[in-house]
Amino acid sequence: MARYKESVCKLCRREGMKLFLKGERCLSPKCAVERRPFVPGMHGRQARFRRQESDYGQQLREKQRARRFYGVLERQFRRYFDLALRARGQTGFNLLVILERRLDNVVYRLGFADSRAQARQLVNHGHIELNGVKTDIPSALVNVGDQIRVREQKQSNGYFRDLAEILEHRSVPEWLSLNASEMSGTVVAFPTREQIDAPVNEQLIVEYYSR
Ligand code: SF4
Repeated sequence: MARYKESVCKLCRREGMKLFLKGERCLSPKCAVERRPFVPGMHGRQARFRRQESDYGQQLREKQRARRFYGVLERQFRRYFDLALRARGQTGFNLLVILERRLDNVVYRLGFADSRAQARQLVNHGHIELNGVKTDIPSALVNVGDQIRVREQKQSNGYFRDLAEILEHRSVPEWLSLNASEMSGTVVAFPTREQIDAPVNEQLIVEYYSR
């Protein structure tokens, strides 16, 4: 499976904003956006975060930011866009809902992981079950009514023992419900636009692919 292997902090610096790709570190003074507030590269210090960009440049940036925020590679992102285009309703919003429905995103939203990358790893390593069946596909799309759970035999390992306490105080988005004691969650509804905190203008992404 192809994946991005370089420093993810570079991605935030390139976008000129925190994308929260590294869990707790993102909230600490060690965050690279705070320590090096300029774009990566040899001439990064001269370049400002927010340059005057062409329409195309802005559309490209929004698309890249959404892709990086959700940790999705280009080809798969394009497939999601095609799916969103074929669905009823607004394409940009449909796209965001599809991205939110990814299993790794839901595992992150439920608080089982600090970042989407960590959530992806939990899924890949077989720690998560979807509707009672072990699922190791981070890109699986959840539906309303689906139950996501940390597999019972994994709940006794060190990471999940510590997590149990944290989950008791965890709040989750309204479109999900969390059962902290069982380390499980349910998709109550698909999210509304207000419930999606992705820092992107989805309309520009639609324009990017409509050129
Ligand atoms: Fe982005 Fe987090 Fe790295 Fe800061 S610490 S640059 S928010 S990934």
